[in-house]
Amino acid sequence: MNELHRARREVLEHIQKACEQANRSADEVQLLAVSKTHPSQAIEQLYQSGQRAFGENYLQEALDKIEALKALEIEWHFIGHVQRNKTKHLAEKFAWVHGVDRLIIAQRLSQQRPAGLAALNICLQVNIDQQDSKDGCAVADVVDLVREISALPNLRLRGIMVIPAPHNHQAFNAAAELFQQVKTEHVHAQDWDTLSMGMSADLQAAITAGSTMVRIGTALFGQRSYDLS
Ligand SMILES: *Cc1c(COP(=O)(O)O)cnc(C)c1O
Repeated sequence: MNELHRARREVLEHIQKACEQANRSADEVQLLAVSKTHPSQAIEQLYQSGQRAFGENYLQEALDKIEALKALEIEWHFIGHVQRNKTKHLAEKFAWVHGVDRLIIAQRLSQQRPAGLAALNICLQVNIDQQDSKDGCAVADVVDLVREISALPNLRLRGIMVIPAPHNHQAFNAAAELFQQVKTEHVHAQDWDTLSMGMSADLQAAITAGSTMVRIGTALFGQRSYDLS
């Protein structure tokens, strides 16, 4: 078994343990492999061990990998900041976009989603702990955004994505509470099933609070040799 297969098995065990301790079933938490800065070959290796969902942050890098790996059945997630002039590529090439934080971005993704493709899955990024430098909408805007975005065609609004400051585990609880509260605003409430939170360093706390999708890079692929974020 190679290094990447072993790393994935360990992360899955870690997820399972965290679920057991939280009295949750392990199949409630999905593993998103965050492959930014890592080469296509590494993605392909992890794919061979069964991983299907991969997350990328930088559009050009992601488009290159999507092209290189188009023979594989990968579910591509965009987890970076969404720029207004880049929505067309996202609408055409990805299955999920986690970083939506304004109505105009959602409207553009909705308009630009090609007719032949399934609805684009969306998470609303929320600045849950009011960080100055972070993307994400304000907590106060979530109710309106859920109501508006969930009514758009060609999208499925799946839930909330947060990136709290390191060690701010209380923010995970706040996100989980918000996630429950705003469900009633959703036009298609059955689509509201995803709480995207938790990274390599805080996976367990995120799962304890109710995460349904952890975004894991370093614990799978090792340290990134460069980081543009
Ligand atoms: C890079 C990144 C991750 C993965 O972080 P690790 O600490 O390497 O697990 C998760 N989510 C987002 C939004 C990221 O940018």
